[in-house]
Amino acid sequence: RVVNFSAGPSMLPLPVLEEVRGEIVDYRSTGMSMIEMSHRSGPYESVHHGAVTLIRELFAVPAEFEVLFIQGGATMQFGMVPMNLLTGSSAGAYVDTGAWATKAFGDAAHHGDVYEAWSGRDIGYTRVPEAAALSLRGDTRYVHITSNETIGGIQYRAWPDVAVPLVADMSSDLFSRSIPWELFDVVYGGVQKNLAPAGLALVFVRRSTLEHTQRNLASYFRYDVHASKSSMYNTPPVFPIYVLEKVLRWIRDCGGLSAMEAGANARADLLYRTIDESGGFYVNPVDAASRSSMNAVFRLSDRSLEPQFITAASERGMVGLKGHRSDGGCRASMYNAMPLAGVEALRQLMIDFKDAAG
Ligand SMILES: *Cc1c(COP(=O)(O)O)cnc(C)c1O
Repeated sequence: RVVNFSAGPSMLPLPVLEEVRGEIVDYRSTGMSMIEMSHRSGPYESVHHGAVTLIRELFAVPAEFEVLFIQGGATMQFGMVPMNLLTGSSAGAYVDTGAWATKAFGDAAHHGDVYEAWSGRDIGYTRVPEAAALSLRGDTRYVHITSNETIGGIQYRAWPDVAVPLVADMSSDLFSRSIPWELFDVVYGGVQKNLAPAGLALVFVRRSTLEHTQRNLASYFRYDVHASKSSMYNTPPVFPIYVLEKVLRWIRDCGGLSAMEAGANARADLLYRTIDESGGFYVNPVDAASRSSMNAVFRLSDRSLEPQFITAASERGMVGLKGHRSDGGCRASMYNAMPLAGVEALRQLMIDFKDAAG
């Protein structure tokens, strides 16, 4: 297998893939796979509820939060959040930290009164704001933040503690660190970056919030409907949930969230150090305090060398390093399943490539 720096879908732990391979034709002597049986069957229900239990345990989810499995990815949450939360005359405040925050804001504008509380546009999205920099109106129901901008490579290392509940898109740093739950009303994320195959969003909703959500919506868009049916109102996305449950057990066996956080910091420290020690050969444009532990973006100071660098990487079995099509350059995504050895190999390549360019 290659060292896979893809931003998403992205690498999964090998033991999980091997376990799936071992079960895919005949799941535990049922004579069929997990993806062929009824979602009301005993084996599936135990995987489904087992996954929720592991999420609560590993992510330290307080009892006052519901854990929901919803299809449509993080993108559908861009709409579901304002649909459900912006009742009456309240407004949603959006913090513009880059590409994903911009999409969340654009979709929310179709469903309620929303406004920009801060934007990093003029500074090239090189950092996240301090809480004090947000300008919030008195009728604000929530402040929407993007905890990690997957494309721009910036991340909140400290959470903005404001007087209004936060709603966070955590698609690309879910389960890479613990979070202060008391600050949030809703936390959501697609699973295909850090946790599982695509097709599922994890959504955490504060129970008291559910008492005041909008009811005049098609049922699939209602958080309260998903919560009252334990995310089985309709057929859930069985395959991603099935793999998710295995990844969660892998995380637990690795030492839980603190081990994921330590791993993420070790990988990111090593890569940013390599960039910083390159004498300007490699450049990361992000303010040091906002550097993402998940997605490190960098350019070669001589941009004409970038295609050669990408080729040299693939010759050493490293793929997925090309930057997002909107930004160009290079990006190394280093999610939970990425071993430190993968980043060590990248560091060695960066050193050797620079020496060869001499
Ligand atoms: C990938 C990503 C999304 C979009 O996720 P989908 O599941 O494809 O809808 C949204 N926000 C962030 C921060 C992402 O990284």
